[in-house]
Order: sequence, then structure tokens, then C-alpha cells
Amino acid sequence: MIEGLFKEGFITTNYDMVMNWAKTGSIWPMTFGLACCAVEMMHAANARYDLSRFGAEVFRASPRQADLIIVAGTLTNKMAPAFRKVYDQMSEPKWVMSLGSCANGGGYYHYGYSVVRGCDRIVPVDVYVPGCPPTAEALIYGLIQLQSKIRRTQTIARA
Ligand code: SF4
Repeated sequence: MIEGLFKEGFITTNYDMVMNWAKTGSIWPMTFGLACCAVEMMHAANARYDLSRFGAEVFRASPRQADLIIVAGTLTNKMAPAFRKVYDQMSEPKWVMSLGSCANGGGYYHYGYSVVRGCDRIVPVDVYVPGCPPTAEALIYGLIQLQSKIRRTQTIARA
């Protein structure tokens, strides 16, 4: 696309491509650290890894300003209704990243009485990042996978 711009002085594109380009470069994640995995999420957002280089801007404290929720840690039964409420309050289009073994399937606490065995029992998940905890690099890789998924979305067909 950019090559055409430099060579010919113009580009041809379609609505989906422009919309998806805008969405992939302006993801605003919601802060949703639940346990130890959240430390890696903070790590990814800070100076060493600088998540904003990849198009995920500042972490938001309000779900109404966020379009990505990174479930970072152990989701308990007690927290699950609040999690669902936060997800419902996020603006569309929205995405979910399940970060780490606990969020993916309960992890160490899979057989515990108080833990949800996977956050996908509460909300639909777009990307699963494995590990206990996953590294900051793994989170960034997950974000890149999410961006690829967004690029494949047909906005008009979805609406
Ligand atoms: S997956 Fe491991 S590091 Fe992450 S919240 Fe669970 S126990 Fe902690």
C-alpha cells in the first residue's frame, strides 16, 4: 500500500482495510491485573518493552475508554461478575486477551474451589497467551497476533 504511494503518488484501498489499519494502531487496553501475571503486563507497558511502539497506547482506567481487556492473572468466582460487568461496559469493537495459565484454564488453581477454570467461561476470548507467567515478550507477541486477527476482520460484513 505505502509502496504504491511513493511510486505512483496515490493508493487504492477499501473501507475494511482503512478501518482495520486504524483499529490495529490505536488499541487502548483496560487495566485488569488480577494476580502475578499482571506484573509482566506492567513490565510490557514500561520503558524496557514500551508496548505503545506496537500500537497499544496508554492503559485506561475506565472500560468505556478501552477496547482491549488483558485478563492478567487468576480469575476467582467472586471476581467473575465484576469482570463480566467491566467487559459489558467496554466500547465496541472490543477484544479480550487471556494472559497466562490461570486466565486460560485456571492454572495451578484449576481444581480449587474458588477459581474460574478459564476466563472464556465468562467472556469470549480472542487471544490466549500461554505461560506461568508469560513473559513480556509473549504478551507483545499475543498483541501482534491480535492485530493480525483484526486485519482479517471484515467490518462491513460484521456490522
Ligand atoms: S499463570 Fe502463574 S504467574 Fe500467572 S497468575 Fe497464575 S500463578 Fe500467577
